[in-house]
Amino acid sequence: MRDLLATRARASPGDAALVDDASGREWTYAALDAAVDRTAGRLAALGVTRGDHVGVLMETRPAFVRLVFAVQRLGATLVPLNARLSPSELETQRERADLVLLVCEDDTASDARAASGPVPVAAVDDPDAPDIRALDECVPDTVAPAEWGLEDTLALLYTSGTTGDPKPVTLTFGNVVAAAGASAFVLGVLPDDRWLCCLSMYHMGGLSIPLRCALYGTTCVLQRGFDAEETARALDEHDCTGVSVVPTMLDRLLRADRTLPDSLRFVLCGGAPTPTDLVAASEDAGVPIHPSYGMTETTSQIATARPAESYANPETVGRPLFGTTVTVVDDAGDPIPAGETGELCVAGPTVTPGYYDAPAANEAAFGPHGLRTGDVGYRDDAGRIYVLNRRSDRIITGGENVDPGRVAEVVRSHPGVRDVAVVGVDDPEWGERVAALVVPEDRATLERDALEAHWADRLAGFAHPRTVVFVDALPRTASGTVDRAAARERVVAAADDL
Ligand code: ATP
Ligand code: MG
Repeated sequence: MRDLLATRARASPGDAALVDDASGREWTYAALDAAVDRTAGRLAALGVTRGDHVGVLMETRPAFVRLVFAVQRLGATLVPLNARLSPSELETQRERADLVLLVCEDDTASDARAASGPVPVAAVDDPDAPDIRALDECVPDTVAPAEWGLEDTLALLYTSGTTGDPKPVTLTFGNVVAAAGASAFVLGVLPDDRWLCCLSMYHMGGLSIPLRCALYGTTCVLQRGFDAEETARALDEHDCTGVSVVPTMLDRLLRADRTLPDSLRFVLCGGAPTPTDLVAASEDAGVPIHPSYGMTETTSQIATARPAESYANPETVGRPLFGTTVTVVDDAGDPIPAGETGELCVAGPTVTPGYYDAPAANEAAFGPHGLRTGDVGYRDDAGRIYVLNRRSDRIITGGENVDPGRVAEVVRSHPGVRDVAVVGVDDPEWGERVAALVVPEDRATLERDALEAHWADRLAGFAHPRTVVFVDALPRTASGTVDRAAARERVVAAADDL
């Protein structure tokens, strides 16, 4: 078929495609399609053709959406780059992804220039940078829309880099179509849906939204970034029916002064574990939370719980999506029964064919049960999935295996604790020792003794945190996951201070 937008614009040209919260501008599918045609023509004038890799370095805004579909129109591959990386990190990502062109905006122009090397840079506005070609000033070529097959590469999208350097994931046209379908089978789709995108589009959770809206024929509402008060206002003002968030965002939304609108029928919450008290707070506030487990490599969701299921069972991320199979395996890679904890493996039509140009990584990542996620968890008898932590997070202290997720849950259940990260740090005697980075509700009233009394009879002795560091906030990656390497550094630095 043709690209997603061209196909959609033929089917429902007059329906609302895109709303930009910042400017108040709106595009129908026909109008967006015409704008995309011009952008595609300009990219073609700059030499972009089928199969080329086009980098995009910008925050969430209409021009990004236009580029997503313009690159598709040419049969080229979209490579979103994280606008918060340093120039040297960007340079590494640009090199790994074999870009032919890098498109930026005013705010990212200087980083783009610093990281672009031999790759030409074009800007969507008129940046204060005379050496950058303004995309809007190119005279467009006429383009014949490319045809897409399910196996063709629609995007290379980098993982968040929680466990190491971000890895470029190949996402096919088929992956995107399958993921949109499977997501709809759990969240549902209504003709008047309006899905707010306040996430970065260089991560899966954000990029999915305009792609899915085009497939569904529904409306994508863009907000340039998350802010609790502003996002609550935008949800209300635009009568949004859905929003995607990471758990820290939902926590802030629930603490904001505005109530969330009645129009809201799903809050897709993923990227990191949803604390059980956040599920409880959502239930109290009547927020239709859908805790979700997903990754870049699976084009977003692997499993998603519905609100009623989540309120009743706040620890689960629900059942695997339609067409997705989750197998739990032991250290030898063999499947294990329900109730037993092991590594989660995922197979199905949303799973990437592999990391780009990385045969060794692909060899290690794929096995007989599909993609090895590196995540540890289990499923119950009803087939619901529980994600505990990452394989690489396991703490081994004095020969005992400690699950940092379980320790964190116990520490978090103390009423004086707002948030916590539990990590292992090197210990000369025990190999590793358990350490906790604690965000207190109120530093003045939370004593370490009270915490120790709290976990004394709830955790085995070897799992008791030996080091406790109080902090104002946990270090997090751009996508909201706890940055565990940074957490370890904080613990080590604090220990040095003693
Ligand atoms: P990298 O692969 O580069 O280390 P990353 O894994 O953080 O980075 P993403 O693809 O953005 O990059 O994140 C996917 C990961 O996020 C999952 O493998 C899992 O560890 C974590 N995750 C996502 N949703 C949940 C959830 N509901 N509960 C627990 N963990 C989750
Ligand atoms: Mg990962």
